[in-house]
Amino acid sequence: MAVYNPKSLKAEEFINHEEILDTIAYAEANKNNVELIDAILKKARPKKTETGCVCGGLTHREASVLLACDIPEKIEEIYKIAEEIKLAFYGNRIVIFAPLYLSNYCVNGCVYCPYHLKNKHITRKKLTQEEVRNEVIALQDMGHKRLAIEAGEDPVHNPIEYILECINTIYSVNHKNGAIRRVNVNIAATTVENYKKLKDAGIGTYILFQETYHKESYLELHPTGPKHDYAYHTEAMDRAMEGGIDDVGLGVLFGLELYKYEFAGLLMHAEHLEAVHGVGPHTISVPRIKHADDIDADAFDNSISDDIFAKITACIRLAVPYTGMIISTRESEEVRGKLLRLGISQVSGGSRTSVGGYTEEERPHDTEQFDVSDQRTLDEVVRWLMENGHIPSFCTACYREGRTGDRFMSLCKSGQILNCCHPNALMTLTEYLVDYASEETKKVGYEMVVKELTRVPGEKVRKIAEQNIIDIRNSNRRDFRF
Ligand code: SAM
Repeated sequence: MAVYNPKSLKAEEFINHEEILDTIAYAEANKNNVELIDAILKKARPKKTETGCVCGGLTHREASVLLACDIPEKIEEIYKIAEEIKLAFYGNRIVIFAPLYLSNYCVNGCVYCPYHLKNKHITRKKLTQEEVRNEVIALQDMGHKRLAIEAGEDPVHNPIEYILECINTIYSVNHKNGAIRRVNVNIAATTVENYKKLKDAGIGTYILFQETYHKESYLELHPTGPKHDYAYHTEAMDRAMEGGIDDVGLGVLFGLELYKYEFAGLLMHAEHLEAVHGVGPHTISVPRIKHADDIDADAFDNSISDDIFAKITACIRLAVPYTGMIISTRESEEVRGKLLRLGISQVSGGSRTSVGGYTEEERPHDTEQFDVSDQRTLDEVVRWLMENGHIPSFCTACYREGRTGDRFMSLCKSGQILNCCHPNALMTLTEYLVDYASEETKKVGYEMVVKELTRVPGEKVRKIAEQNIIDIRNSNRRDFRF
């Protein structure tokens, strides 16, 4: 039997089944243990220091106790602390991105995904470089600066050379004032050699959802194709980091397995990355299964309610305070609005989950991966965020200035990241407002920029930010390293 060891490079040792079961049992036994819960909450609460703020974070066991707890006042306290952490480390900024589907050819048999090999009626499509260029122009015309590219796994149709060529094309397009400044990549688990190539191509975060940490379920949910190999998939982030990729993004597809199991597994994965590579995940995504072409989301009986979903999000926020959290347009405006208060730091906007969807007038469904709940335009999402007190940020400066991996984390942990992020968010928001926003959004946006400028820490930085914003508004200056 495998033994739990977060430093091991073997999937079954760092995501240890027995340890997860013991954790769930421990959490259940202590879910009404107020003394223990109070001690865990105390550890999670952000503490002021001379340089900023620090946060203890929680172990998978501690966080699992909070997740199991059903005392209403304690749940309220968890939510309150989640919001405090979000404000302490990310301020009221929300980073904006969009997915770009390159190809839906796939050789895997994932039972929850309509791209599975046995789906013979879905239209298969792979973008040509000309089509990639047109999609990027459409995305730039919306105002996007940060993309997450998505592709099925198919060594013949979507080899690494194809993905690299697409990344190159994406970075090369400059339409009007547009530019994609960060390309995150969500493609299947691959080799160290291929991760090195992705690193050399200048990618941002490498994102790979575990789908489920439960090995037996994993094997059933991925019955055929290369993704069937649980260890190869689970150990992918170690290979990515070995290949030089600093920022990796974790996630599970909630609904496939029992959420308490996934939650413990996810945090153990984060602990493993920290233990082995000295840096935890850059982001954690929290997708839930959605209806899709031949996929009935209701057929998955581990689906979670909106309340449990909120609790999971808040408990992740407490456990890994320095990790960004992503919510996609799989979720409705209402759910997204609630989770933004509980620790989410990145949202997608105006998304299309079909191959070539951005150049179509109407939202196409023939190649779509799943239904999009939040169907608002990017302009509507941006305005909605601001009306709710969040600053939409199009900033990619950390990545462009080499503040990735442990360099990003150490700045974040000392609270210093706030000093650059806040002015950068305001400057990139101004760029967006000048170039792409509707009159209504411009009005809300400029008012927000003026108000938020007063909160930029330090007079010198504030003056520079102010001058840059005037320059952007007056002369469309575009020489900053956002
Ligand atoms: N092919 C890549 C891989 O194998 O990991 C990943 C790209 S896939 C386009 C992105 C993610 O979409 C998957 O990891 C999965 O979690 C999610 N997904 C698949 N089917 C879904 C569905 N029906 N509803 C919601 N999300 C889904």
